[in-house]
Amino acid sequence: MPYAGHLRGIIGVVSNTAQQIEHAIAGSGRRLTGPRRTLAEALLTLGDHFAAEELLQAAPGVGRATVFRTLRMLQESGLVCQVVMDDGHTVYRLGSEEHHHHVICSECGAVADIASTRLEKALGAIAVETGYEVDAHRLELYGRCPDCRAARASAK
Ligand SMILES: [Zn+2]
Ligand SMILES: [Zn+2]
Ligand SMILES: [Zn+2]
Repeated sequence: MPYAGHLRGIIGVVSNTAQQIEHAIAGSGRRLTGPRRTLAEALLTLGDHFAAEELLQAAPGVGRATVFRTLRMLQESGLVCQVVMDDGHTVYRLGSEEHHHHVICSECGAVADIASTRLEKALGAIAVETGYEVDAHRLELYGRCPDCRAARASAK
């Protein structure tokens, strides 16, 4: 199975516990009440990845500004990351705090996390070559996931 070889270096991302999310949303030492609780619970029901609008719908009674502020805050704390889908629209995903990238299925939309020290080293070298002081980078891979590949193969 050649696919596995390409994805060596994948990290088994530990999905965030409800507790971590709630803790981050509540702020340390504070109790989670009202809209914040609704948001935390909604976040955990949304699955693999979700659009901001979906979170809005899943958290009835929570204002738009609160939803977006919370998403930004969770991104900053590394509990949520942004994924750019192949049509350019951005979705959110519960993430690991470890630096990683995403591989996205163009057919079914499945997203997996990837992390590779070799890749990061190469990107660091490129930064040096450009003479830029690089603060951040974005990289997503697009293609077909193993399930979609298998479905294709058996359809032939
Ligand atoms: Zn991620
Ligand atoms: Zn797929
Ligand atoms: Zn990277």
